[in-house]
Amino acid sequence: MNMQNNSDHPLPLETLTALCKRRGFIFQTSEIYGGLNGFWDYGPLGTALKNNLRDAWWQDLVRTPPIGPDGEILDIVGLDSAIIQNPRVWEASGHVGGFNDPMCDCRESKSRYRADHLMVYVPADKDGTLFACLVGDEARAEKRIRKEAKADPAAYTVKPVTEIPVADLPRVWGPDAAKPGTLTEPRQFNLMFKTYIGAASGEDNLAYLRPETAQGIFTNYKNVLDTMRVKLPFGIAQVGKSFRNEVTPRNFIFRSREFEQMELEWFCHPDESQKWYDFWTEARLKWWESIGVSSANLRRRDHDPDELAHYSTACADVEYRYGFTAPDFGELEGIAHRGAFDLTQHQEFSGTKMEYFDQETNTRVLPHVIEPSSGLTRGVLVVLNEAYAEEFVPKGDQEGGPIQAAPGQQPPEGYEKRVVMRFSPRLAPVKAAIFPLLKNRPEIVAKAKELYMDLRTTWAVDYDQTGAIGRRYRRQDEIGTPFCITVDFDSLENNTVTIRERDSMKQTTLPITEVRAWLATHGL
Ligand code: ATP
Repeated sequence: MNMQNNSDHPLPLETLTALCKRRGFIFQTSEIYGGLNGFWDYGPLGTALKNNLRDAWWQDLVRTPPIGPDGEILDIVGLDSAIIQNPRVWEASGHVGGFNDPMCDCRESKSRYRADHLMVYVPADKDGTLFACLVGDEARAEKRIRKEAKADPAAYTVKPVTEIPVADLPRVWGPDAAKPGTLTEPRQFNLMFKTYIGAASGEDNLAYLRPETAQGIFTNYKNVLDTMRVKLPFGIAQVGKSFRNEVTPRNFIFRSREFEQMELEWFCHPDESQKWYDFWTEARLKWWESIGVSSANLRRRDHDPDELAHYSTACADVEYRYGFTAPDFGELEGIAHRGAFDLTQHQEFSGTKMEYFDQETNTRVLPHVIEPSSGLTRGVLVVLNEAYAEEFVPKGDQEGGPIQAAPGQQPPEGYEKRVVMRFSPRLAPVKAAIFPLLKNRPEIVAKAKELYMDLRTTWAVDYDQTGAIGRRYRRQDEIGTPFCITVDFDSLENNTVTIRERDSMKQTTLPITEVRAWLATHGL
């Protein structure tokens, strides 16, 4: 789909962030007060895009799940559990005790860094200064090495901060410090946001904002089993907000402190769990491709055995080549084989039996769980990154279609640049824009409005009558509207309109009465 987003021409994050702000996709939260690190607001188009991605996931997973490995129809039901739950949930899930990221503080700058994000340049010389930097910010550390140590960074070995002996910490120069020796030893830090329920704020009233949607599914597993007549295997799906007090929120909406997740818990017989794990890892990768993410920018990464949680026998990530990770990849979704860990924990902590009774075989079993867990907001970043393209188009009336360009590249003589978001029609925030050729011709305006009023009953459509047609096209290109429909003098005479396709810029004239059918056969 997007030829620019390859390892040769990664899309700079600033370019995407600027477009998101300029066109009303995503804003810094409470921007008029200086923002808040790790929190974002979705503007009108961002909201529509996020809802469309959420709806596509729900449609393809809950309403029409893929066909199972043996040709069977799968049963998946939806859920919407509370964000604040009984704190015991988080004790049982292991989040209170173990949902920690080791982190380092800088005593001087008061910055806090996730230890697994902090790399250290170690010199060959035993007494030399060590230089720390965040992953992705190596250029800054290398500049500092050249300036402060007057040395070649290539002569240093790079190690995670967790591998630096405590005795060497006084020689480590933190990323935001003015001198070495300000970093603390990595310590555990609980990522759950705390809150207090009711008027009193004592520890007895302590509660947490959920750090994942999954636990709400496990705590409702019995309710669903008892009310929905589901049989093993079956799934429960949920989309909703999660909160993590991330030590280093960064890369725009990739890692934020408030975000949304789309999670499926697939309950199955322990004997069949490996088959389902294989099925879901495959199916989830395919799904991201089906909504328009190119396979070249997606990959599956199986976790090494030493990366797995103690209860997990397998875990794979669907990874995407983000502009800021290129040529490397970063996580988009994780598919975990969780065994019977969660149900066992909740059974033990709550005293409620979680076993499934199989009427056919007259046996009881504690199901195993396969969990495809993805970020909805991180998915929005992938869709935005994937859709973004810059092209050169001939100026004026010259012949020729669009030519692919790299982000930031200047157009040659006779061409101008166009920025286009190539969202699949299914995800595009606006499906079609209706333009009257001239705003001062009441008959044309009336006809265009009539078409708009008709189409909006089925699709999210825009009506725009201001400015030259070329400018109106550019705006719609930048927000990724797949089709622009112009009502002109011919429309009055012949009852026809012209539809212009976003990607090819091809124009088709057809009777107004055929517009709906045309759109329906073009992905809407
Ligand atoms: P990481 O190791 O990057 O912190 P994780 O492996 O802990 O992430 P999971 O707990 O598996 O992430 O969460 C499932 C999905 O939720 C991730 O694949 C990601 O898409 C999304 N996600 C997790 N944390 C964040 C965050 N801070 N901001 C945005 N999305 C997130």
